[in-house]
Amino acid sequence: MSLPQFKLLRPRVLEEAVGYLGEHAGELRVLAGGTDLIPSMRQRLFEPEHVLDLRGIAALRGIKPQPDGGVEIGALTTLRAIERSDYLRQHYPVLPEAAATVASPVLRNMGTIGGNICLDTRCLWYNQSLNWRKGCGFCIKKDGDLCHVAPGGTKCWAVFSGDTPPALLCLSAEIDIVGADGIRRIPLSDFYTGLGDSYRKLQPNELVTRIFLPASSADYRGVYRKLRVRGSIDYPLAGVAVVMRSNGHVSDARIGITAVNPAPLLVKGVGELLMGKALDESLAEAVGDLAARTAKPLTTSALTPEYRREMIRVFTKRAVLAAAAN
Ligand SMILES: Cc1cc2nc3c(=O)[nH]c(=O)nc-3n(C[C@H](O)[C@H](O)[C@H](O)COP(=O)(O)OP(=O)(O)OC[C@H]3O[C@@H](n4cnc5c(N)ncnc54)[C@H](O)[C@@H]3O)c2cc1C
Ligand code: SF4
Repeated sequence: MSLPQFKLLRPRVLEEAVGYLGEHAGELRVLAGGTDLIPSMRQRLFEPEHVLDLRGIAALRGIKPQPDGGVEIGALTTLRAIERSDYLRQHYPVLPEAAATVASPVLRNMGTIGGNICLDTRCLWYNQSLNWRKGCGFCIKKDGDLCHVAPGGTKCWAVFSGDTPPALLCLSAEIDIVGADGIRRIPLSDFYTGLGDSYRKLQPNELVTRIFLPASSADYRGVYRKLRVRGSIDYPLAGVAVVMRSNGHVSDARIGITAVNPAPLLVKGVGELLMGKALDESLAEAVGDLAARTAKPLTTSALTPEYRREMIRVFTKRAVLAAAAN
C-alpha cells in the first residue's frame, strides 16, 4: 500500500512547529515516531495535505527530574528510552514496565510517549485497507454513516489501545498542550473524550509537548499486565496498570485499564476498598470485579468482549497481588 501525496514540514524549533499548526490547521497531521500514523496513511485512514514531522525538535526529547521531585518527559522521548531509564524504573516503575510491552523493540526505538498518548482508537472494521472498508460500506469513524459493532446506534465504540496511558493515569500525569493560542496544562484524565471517533480533546492547531509526573506519585510499587494475540508485538486487547503503597496494609492504590473502552480509565473506588487492609486473595478478587465492571468491551477485535472483560478481572487480581508482594 503506497502513501498518499503530502507535503512534509520539518521544523527545528517548537515555535516553527506552532506556526505551521496555525497556518495549516485541519489539513495537517503531526508525525512523531510515525509507527501508527504511517500505516494509517497507507490504509487511507488519514490523507493530510501536510505532515508536520516533529523529530527535528530536540527540545521535545528527554527525561528530566525536577527540583521538586517530580519528572518532566518530552513528548518525543522514545518508548525505548522510557523502558531503559534507571530514574523511571526506580521512582515510577509502572511506566517503564508498560512501555516495555508496546509492540516490538524496533517499534519502541521509533515510537514516542507523545504518540502513545495521542494514539488513534482501533476497531476491527476500521484498521483495514481502503478496499476492505469500501467492501463493507465504510463506518461512522471514517467515510460512512453506520456502525458494524453496534448497528442502529450513532456512536463509534472504537477502543483506545495505548499501553502507557493507564500507567500514566495511575501516576496522576499532567500534559502540556501547545498551540497557536498558547500553552495549557491539563490532567491526562481530562484529555480523552470517551468517544471512539473524536477521542481526544486536542484542537487541530495544537500538539502535546510534555508529560509531568508529580513527586506525590513517586515510589509507588507498579505492575502492568496485558492481553494480546502475539506476545512479541501486538496491541493490547485488555491491559491493567496497578500502583500501590503498602507496608503490610495498603495505604493507597490506583488501577488504570486500557483497550476495553474508547478511553483509558482509572477504576473508581479502588483506594476506598483497599485502604488500611492487608491484601489477600478475596480482596484481590473484589478489586478484579470492580475493574471488570469498568470495562465495557464490544466486538471491536477478534477476541470476544466476554473474554476480554474476564481477562481484565484476572489480570487485575494477579497485578494487585504482585504489586503487594513486590
Ligand atoms: C505492529 C504494531 C504493533 C503495535 N503494538 C502496539 C502496542 O502493543 N501497544 C501500543 O500502545 N501501541 C502499539 N503500536 C502503535 C505505536 O507503535 C505506538 O502506540 C507508538 O507509541 C506510537 O508513537 P509514535 O511516536 O510512533 O506515533 P505516531 O505514529 O507518530 O503518531 C500517532 C498519532 O498521534 C499523533 N501524535 C503523535 N505525537 C503527537 C504529539 N506530540 N502531539 C499531538 N499528536 C501527536 C499523530 O498525529 C498520530 O495521530 C503498534 C504499532 C504497530 C505498527
Ligand atoms: S465501533 Fe463502529 S463506527 Fe467505530 S470504528 Fe468500529 S465499526 Fe466503525
